[in-house]
Amino acid sequence: MNNPDFLITGGGIIGTAIALTLKKKNKKLKITLLEKEKTIGYHASGRNSGVLHAGFYYTPESLKAKFTKKGNEFLTDYCLTKKLSINQCGKLVVAKDEKDLDQMKTLFERGRINEIDIHELTEKEAKELEPRVKTFKKALFSPKTSSVDPIEVLTSLQQDAIKEGITIIYDQKYLGKSKENTIKTNTDHFTPGHFINAGGLYADKIAKDFGFSSDYEILPFKGLYLYSNEAPGGFKKHIYPVPDLRNPFLGVHVTVTVDRKAKLGPTAIPGLWRENYKGFSSFSLKEFLSIGKREIELFFNANFPFRELALEEIKKNSRYYMAKKAMELADHIYPKNFKTWGKVGIRAQLIHIKDKKLVSDFLIEGDTFSTHVLNAVSPAFTASFPFAEHVVEKFNF
Ligand SMILES: Cc1cc2nc3c(=O)[nH]c(=O)nc-3n(C[C@H](O)[C@H](O)[C@H](O)COP(=O)(O)OP(=O)(O)OC[C@H]3O[C@@H](n4cnc5c(N)ncnc54)[C@H](O)[C@@H]3O)c2cc1C
Repeated sequence: MNNPDFLITGGGIIGTAIALTLKKKNKKLKITLLEKEKTIGYHASGRNSGVLHAGFYYTPESLKAKFTKKGNEFLTDYCLTKKLSINQCGKLVVAKDEKDLDQMKTLFERGRINEIDIHELTEKEAKELEPRVKTFKKALFSPKTSSVDPIEVLTSLQQDAIKEGITIIYDQKYLGKSKENTIKTNTDHFTPGHFINAGGLYADKIAKDFGFSSDYEILPFKGLYLYSNEAPGGFKKHIYPVPDLRNPFLGVHVTVTVDRKAKLGPTAIPGLWRENYKGFSSFSLKEFLSIGKREIELFFNANFPFRELALEEIKKNSRYYMAKKAMELADHIYPKNFKTWGKVGIRAQLIHIKDKKLVSDFLIEGDTFSTHVLNAVSPAFTASFPFAEHVVEKFNF
């Protein structure tokens, strides 16, 4: 067990999908997956919106564009076959003014090139699908966007992995590696044939031990959700604004969950340490000082609108402000119906240090001994299986 062919660090959706994909390629491989937490889906893979995205946001040459459509099809089939919860509700993208219509055109065009099932609707047609929707003249409709329960999906995949003979060890934290490529954890040592880093919020730190991620660093962005207390069925479709395409976040939207309830969010508030979920939990002074310094630098000098983003996002700590933003998307939104904050999720967003820019696409680095998944940001849950195929295609079995 301590000298597997592949040792994978990180038991989120990416580590799990890579383990399953390797095993599918070669049943004989010995694969061990390490997860530092005691519970499944404790980080992004269990704290996301649970939306299976369709793939029309992304520029056609990007890995995101390549993987999202296929990933959506894979997980949709998986949920239907395994009888896991899925709400195939579809999604509307709405405009608030003439300027948004231009961006909407860009999204439609990207969707067309990426061969996504996407439709331009009039305001009236959009209202027929979702009577509460508000839009300026036009809307986009994506029928293939749906909702799943991410922890249910991850649990099912890990059960599959165990059945396939993959060893999954919880409460097992990667701590470092020796010059001889021995991997040290909190309780053990491993000497794998190949090491795969799918460490989410810590992927950059782990990669640096192997001489990678030298140009990059992860910045945490907090995603807050505000739940509606309306009865299920209050919204028929997800409703998203046209995003600011200068950054990778989609803007506060109405998400319909698997149980047909609605939630607003997520925000993209700059975090102050990596696991900055609530209060001072998991506080790290070292992280606070380095992340704080980086954010101050970006606030005054960035090559993307960080200051604008930070100032806007911080306001979303107020549920009144969140409700106000949602009023731009839908009718009959009242702050009294949105009182319950949900579980916070944190995006492990990579920045290019010298360029002072957020990295928008997925990024993987590595060599013959190690592979590092550095920017598994949204929609990496949706895209996880084609993403894993891409990671493993360099290996000869
Ligand atoms: C607020 C929010 C909303 C999102 N919404 C969507 C969405 O609707 N649709 C979508 O497709 N994507 C969405 N995403 C993105 C998606 O959740 C992530 O892209 C995906 O979960 C990344 O998976 P991962 O396995 O890389 O990361 P994680 O789930 O974070 O897994 C990494 C794992 O590595 C472990 N780890 C870290 N360090 C160590 C160590 N030293 N030793 C051992 N283990 C370690 C962690 O404990 C963690 O479990 C969202 C993300 C957020 C934060």
